Amino acid sequence: MTPGAAPSPVVELDDDRIARHGLRLFLKRDDLVHPDLPGNKWRKLRHNIGPAREHGTLLTFGGAYSNHLRATAAAGDLFGFATIGVVRGEEHLPLNESLAYAERKGMQLAYLDRTTYRRKHEPDVIAALRERWGDFYLLPEGGSNALAVRGCAELGAEAAGFDVVCCPCGTGGTLAGLAAGLPPRARALGFSVLKGGFMDAEVERLQRETYGERRGSWSVEDGFHFGGYARTSPDLDGFIGDFAERHGLVLDRIYTAKMMFGVYTLAGRGAFPEGARVLAVITG
Ligand SMILES: *Cc1c(COP(=O)(O)O)cnc(C)c1O
Repeated sequence: MTPGAAPSPVVELDDDRIARHGLRLFLKRDDLVHPDLPGNKWRKLRHNIGPAREHGTLLTFGGAYSNHLRATAAAGDLFGFATIGVVRGEEHLPLNESLAYAERKGMQLAYLDRTTYRRKHEPDVIAALRERWGDFYLLPEGGSNALAVRGCAELGAEAAGFDVVCCPCGTGGTLAGLAAGLPPRARALGFSVLKGGFMDAEVERLQRETYGERRGSWSVEDGFHFGGYARTSPDLDGFIGDFAERHGLVLDRIYTAKMMFGVYTLAGRGAFPEGARVLAVITG
């Protein structure tokens, strides 16, 4: 199965909590593009595969539960390049399900203590990694670089015909590309799953790295992180259960559930213009 061969499907949600505000809500099912390379991870990796194969080895970074490490390992296996995953913190055995999967797909795992991990993109840390692992193609944490932003711009181009297009934000690469690729007049709305209010600056930095300027019409909602990465709350868990019952789709609690909770909340507050067609990207 070649991932990304066709645009991912769009389905309309029938939900009175949306309809009563005069809105129409659609889901873009990017989670269905490939079983091992779902959603935005595929979009972010696809243009990085050429350079990774040229180098033969790709090295990247992630937390112990990183979807990015999983997807990168799967891409290496599928497209024929070696992968090294540098994990934040110490090794814990047995490996959790994400890291065990990455290892099964051939990824070599290395660990950096939290203090060094924070400086992972600095020259001395990279030099030490090169000493240990030899030549590699370096993909930043979460896979967000200019090639990833360009891959996500293709998502924007697929999202024509909507007024507002929503996505969750971890490193901001998906929003940076989505916003740049949208047709004029549409706007992108990102929901940060991280606390700290830095997402806006990150998205802008990634757009400048890719295009040399800020692109498209976009903003970041900072009010739906539920305390930070991987944090949850009884409200959020209740929302996930209710959504699964109504629509038969289990939202992932780290990313897409926070976005959808945000979309429903904003709809209730009248934050979208009457009659708007809203598209929420199910990124994984
Ligand atoms: C990684 C991931 C994100 C975050 O994407 P960024 O480009 O890092 O902002 C969003 N949703 C899902 C499901 C993910 O796995």
